[in-house]
Amino acid sequence: MVRVYLALGGNLGDRHLSLETAIDRLQEHVVIDQQSGIYETAPMYVADQPAFLNMVVSGVTDLTPLALLDFLKRLESEIGRVPSVVNGPRQIDLDILFFGDTVLNSERLTLPHPRIAERAFVLVPLCDIAPDLIGPTEPLSISQLLAQVPGRDTVQPCV
Ligand code: ADP
Ligand code: MG
Repeated sequence: MVRVYLALGGNLGDRHLSLETAIDRLQEHVVIDQQSGIYETAPMYVADQPAFLNMVVSGVTDLTPLALLDFLKRLESEIGRVPSVVNGPRQIDLDILFFGDTVLNSERLTLPHPRIAERAFVLVPLCDIAPDLIGPTEPLSISQLLAQVPGRDTVQPCV
């Protein structure tokens, strides 16, 4: 079994329901034992779209990295397949942040996720559950990365 950290985000449809459904379904292959709070985040790369909900979960799995990616992609399309948004954008984005200490650079999968350090919407929730985590490619802990990332104020706890 390997410990994994997964980022969940969505900005369409019932955003809370999408997160809940994703966490439910994830447990088919990941024994989740840690969940961050839920945060509302101003869109980062494309400003002209609704705000996101973001969170991070951790658990253990016996899937391989690529099997986990395939599973996440399947969940994304199943959760996104909601009648009101046929052909619309996805309701949910599921990313692998860390897969144990695995370092991988393949066409389909980069581990750790390459944009953790620049994304306040990943670092803020990740800091809830793993402030002292130090990944295999980066000397700084999550809380140290969070201290230096711009845009922390765009990530607000959801009450
Ligand atoms: P994004 O997550 O960047 O908004 P997508 O979810 O469409 O966009 O992901 C694009 C591709 O990124 C995926 O199809 C997947 O093959 C690839 N990818 C590479 N590394 C990772 C990772 N660590 N977690 C999730 N997807 C990844
Ligand atoms: Mg993704």
